[in-house]
Amino acid sequence: MKDYVWVKMGRQKRIALIAHDNKKEDMIEWVQANREALSRHFLYGTGTTAKLIAETTGLPVKAYRSGPLGGDQQIGARIVEGRIDFMIFFWDPLEAQPHDPDVKALLRIGVLYDIPIANNRATADFLLSSSLMEEEYERKVINYSSNIMNRAVKFMDKEG
Ligand code: PGA
Repeated sequence: MKDYVWVKMGRQKRIALIAHDNKKEDMIEWVQANREALSRHFLYGTGTTAKLIAETTGLPVKAYRSGPLGGDQQIGARIVEGRIDFMIFFWDPLEAQPHDPDVKALLRIGVLYDIPIANNRATADFLLSSSLMEEEYERKVINYSSNIMNRAVKFMDKEG
């Protein structure tokens, strides 16, 4: 079995928007400035970020729980399930968060599932202006079935 699979992202991306409190203003400004481009995709977000964006821009944003209450973990789970495939996450580099372990977990899952991730405004600008935003794209993701099989075989070998 192949160790990797190619997971197709459609032309319309499923974008998670998350901003820590000190970064919410930046996020709202960025979404306002890119409203037109973002309106061609599906938007999701942690509770407070999603609500603020929806109210200030009028764009539909599906809201999960607030980040500190498990929203980051919900978005991580959607990435694993292949239901979110893009992330703009403005985390705060100057202040510790109560849910820092969840933040780290979410970033790890995003890298593991090979989704585009922007953690600051400049990266978000470069990502959004990529021609790939309007095209299909195949992400290279670990084949979880063969991964489980290999690990189970290795374990069974060790046990004799
Ligand atoms: P919030 O969560 O959008 O509910 O503020 C963001 C976060 O802190 O991860």
